[in-house]
Amino acid sequence: MTSINVAIIGAGVVGKAFVNQIASIKSKITFNVIHLATSKKALVSQDYKPLDLSSGWESNLAAATQTPFSLEQLLEYLKKSPEPVILVDNTSNETIAKFYPQFVANGICIATPNKKAFSSDLNLWNNIFNDKIGAGLVYHEATVGAGLPIISTLHDLINTGDKVELIEGILSGSLSFILNTFSTVNPNNTKFSEIVSKAKTLGYLEPDPRDDLNGMDFARKVTILARIAGFKVESPSAFPITSLIPKPLESVPTGEEFMSKLPDYDSSFEQLKKEAADEGKVLRYVGKVDFPNKSVTVGFQKYDASHPFASLQGSDNVLAIKTERYQNPLIVQGAGAGAEVTAAGVLADVIKIAERL
Ligand code: NAD
Repeated sequence: MTSINVAIIGAGVVGKAFVNQIASIKSKITFNVIHLATSKKALVSQDYKPLDLSSGWESNLAAATQTPFSLEQLLEYLKKSPEPVILVDNTSNETIAKFYPQFVANGICIATPNKKAFSSDLNLWNNIFNDKIGAGLVYHEATVGAGLPIISTLHDLINTGDKVELIEGILSGSLSFILNTFSTVNPNNTKFSEIVSKAKTLGYLEPDPRDDLNGMDFARKVTILARIAGFKVESPSAFPITSLIPKPLESVPTGEEFMSKLPDYDSSFEQLKKEAADEGKVLRYVGKVDFPNKSVTVGFQKYDASHPFASLQGSDNVLAIKTERYQNPLIVQGAGAGAEVTAAGVLADVIKIAERL
């Protein structure tokens, strides 16, 4: 029976669900968690025997006296593992992401929902996926659409010789909710600012909603898909992004002040919605990778009522891939956030890596 050692960084929303899932799956492969760290505490198995992940692991971690390794120390520890190692990065930390090339160069595999490594400088991407013999495998399905099979599907299409023509997607749960509620097939009068408030109450938005409304997180996901499909996108700021933040509100100091002033701009959003409705369409906020036009964009698009993007519900994500073989686009749709689905996306990657080792 194959044994794989797993080192986990991050035990927040996704990390906790991941630990519980890996501790309870039934698999032909034995997964031994040997390292579990947050930014403050760490549980480390000095002899590389599995940590105890029975129900009390959260209190064990909270009571741990060991501080986390530095990345250099973690690398040295993992290099000495008697079994192959998969590092699971369940953080959104950029410093850790920038260290991936060192892990990979030392044969350590990585599974992660952390977008930073794949959507920052193109150099970092090239250093991670360098195809050197003996390099660790890197899987990152949950960086786009959480547990939805988006990245694996795109890889399969490309690896089997299909030619991608157009990728279109709604890849932000919060912005999906806002536009799905604002612009509906059966007209409604709810104001844009009221919907943003509701999204905030439901916990769909960052503490300062502008961190979602600026479209940058969405653009990171589009950068990842564009790069997989062959576009050499330098960074998420290398292509046009339409921000949902009214220009004068970009510089207001706090999220609270932003929310209090947003109603002043309802009429401009209403106008956009009306323009779409006058054409019998709805308004959506969409990322697009367009091969014939060699363009990558994030912004508003209008869709007929019969289009799958028009009937999207709640905070769901959706991706449509038009290829030479799929002229009627292949569509992946479902929850694009949440602890359990995201953790399952990461765990599925861990299993895929282990099966290749
Ligand atoms: P979180 O803030 O709840 O948890 C982050 C964890 O990482 C914490 O335990 C924190 O202590 C730890 N951490 C941060 N910096 C660290 C460091 N330098 N060293 C060690 N530990 C460190 O975040 P989350 O919601 O669990 O998200 C984790 C990742 O999953 C992020 O990259 C996020 O973008 C991605 N993701 C989350 C969702 C979701 O629904 N929550 C969906 C898709 C992708």
